[in-house]
Amino acid sequence: MIRTRFAPSPTGELHIGGARTALFAYLFAKSQGGEFLLRIEDTDRERFVERATERIIESLKWLGITPDNIEKPMIQSERLEEYKKHAFDLVRAGHAYICTCTKEMLEKDREEQIKSGVAPRYEGHCRKLKTKSEKLKAIEGKYIIRMKMPDEGKIIVDDLIRGKVEFDASLLDDQIILKSDGFPTYHLASVIDDHEMGITHVIRAEEWLSSTPKHLKLYQMFGWDAPEFAHLPMILGPDHKKLSKRHGATSISDHKAEGYLPEALVNFMAFLGWNPKDDSKQYFSLQELTEEFKIKNVNKSAAVFDIEKLRSLNEYYLRTYELTNLKTKERLTEGESGLIKRGGYKTLKEAEDYLQKLRKTPEYDPKSLIFKKSSEETTKKGLELACEKLSSCERWESESIQRSLAEAVGEGGLTNGDVFWPVRVALSGEEKSPSPVELMVALGKGESVKRVKEAIKKLK
Ligand code: GLU
Repeated sequence: MIRTRFAPSPTGELHIGGARTALFAYLFAKSQGGEFLLRIEDTDRERFVERATERIIESLKWLGITPDNIEKPMIQSERLEEYKKHAFDLVRAGHAYICTCTKEMLEKDREEQIKSGVAPRYEGHCRKLKTKSEKLKAIEGKYIIRMKMPDEGKIIVDDLIRGKVEFDASLLDDQIILKSDGFPTYHLASVIDDHEMGITHVIRAEEWLSSTPKHLKLYQMFGWDAPEFAHLPMILGPDHKKLSKRHGATSISDHKAEGYLPEALVNFMAFLGWNPKDDSKQYFSLQELTEEFKIKNVNKSAAVFDIEKLRSLNEYYLRTYELTNLKTKERLTEGESGLIKRGGYKTLKEAEDYLQKLRKTPEYDPKSLIFKKSSEETTKKGLELACEKLSSCERWESESIQRSLAEAVGEGGLTNGDVFWPVRVALSGEEKSPSPVELMVALGKGESVKRVKEAIKKLK
C-alpha cells in the first residue's frame, strides 16, 4: 500500500507552498489507491503558534485535500519518550554519542574555524569520549545527542524527480538528534515517524533535499528500510525570487478571503511544478488530477506563481459553478449568484464589491440613458413601455424578463437599443455593465421597476 504524508510545522497559516506539497502527496497516494496521512511537527516550541494546527486542518479540508487520519493525526509533541528511547538506542549501538560541549566551547570553535577560513562544524570533542548512559543522570538536561556522520564516502539520494543526487559525507556535520530540552530534532523525529507510519514515499519541498542524506544515514543506523523520496520544485514569485509574504497573499485563508474558490486553487497549485501529458487541457478537478497525476511529469525546475493565471482559472470556476453550489457556499441569493456566474468577475470578492455597489441607488447623467443616435423622446417611450411590461411580469426570471423587454420593443416599434440600453443604464448607472436582464434578476422586481421609474422622471 502506497502511503504518503504531509508534515507541517504549526507555525502559522497553511501557505501556497505547503498546500502544494500536501496536494502532490495526496495525488501521488490517491492516484495509486494509497493513503495520505497528516503529521504535526510541533517539536520546535519557539516557533509554535497557538491554533495553527486547527487552521492548517481547516484549510486542507476546505481545499478538499483531506488526510485519511484527519480525526487523529500524529502529533510529535505527544511522542517525546519514543524519540528519546530511539536516540539512546543509537548511542548504545555506537551510532550516536552524548555531547556535553557548552555553548561557549562551540562558539569558540566556531570563531576559530571562521578565522582560519574553514566551514564551521562540530569539532567532535565528545565523539572521542565514551559517556556511559548511566552517567547521564548526573548531567541531566545538560547534554545533547549527536549522530555520527561518516568521515568519508558518498551518500546518494535517488530522488524520484531529480534522479541520483550525491552528497559528500565528510561535509556533513555530526547532526544533533536530541536537544538539551529533551525534544528531538526534525531529523530524528521525522525518520522515526515516517518509519512508524509506514510511509512508502516522502514527498516534500526541495528545501529538504539536503536533509535527506542525514535521514538515509539514520535509517541505516536503525536498520530500517528507507522510503522513496521526491523533492518538489521551488515556487518563485513573479519576480523570480522565492515565493514569500512580500508577494502579497500567500496563505490559503487569505486567498479564500479574497474570493478564490477551492477548485481554482487546487487546479492552479497542481500546475506549480506538474504538467499533464496533454498540455492543451487546463481545467482539472481534484478527481481528474487524481486520475492524471504521475510523479514523472513533475518538473525539476522552479515553478513561477502567476497570479493572472489563478485569476483566470477562478473566473472559469465562478462561471461554470453550479448555481446552487455558489448559493449555498457563499450565501448569495439566486439572482446574485446568476450575475456572478456570468459577470466575468475574477474573484468572488470583486463580484461582491460589484453587488454592493449595485445595491446603492445609481447616480448618472440622464443623457447617458439615450442610446447612440436615439432621441430623448424615443428613450422615454422605451422606458415607459418597459416599465409597464416589467410591472406586469409575473415570474421574475431571465426568460420572462427578457420577453417583457422584447414586447416593449415590438409594441413600440422600437429598436433593441431604445429599450435595453436605457433600462440597463437606469439599473446600473453605467454605460458598461452586465445585461439588464441579469441586473434585474439580481436586484429583484421591486427595486428594478423603481429604478426604471426614476429614470423616466429624469427625462423631460
Ligand atoms: N515540518 C517540515 C515542514 O514544515 C516537514 C518536512 C518534511 O516533509 O519532511 O515542512
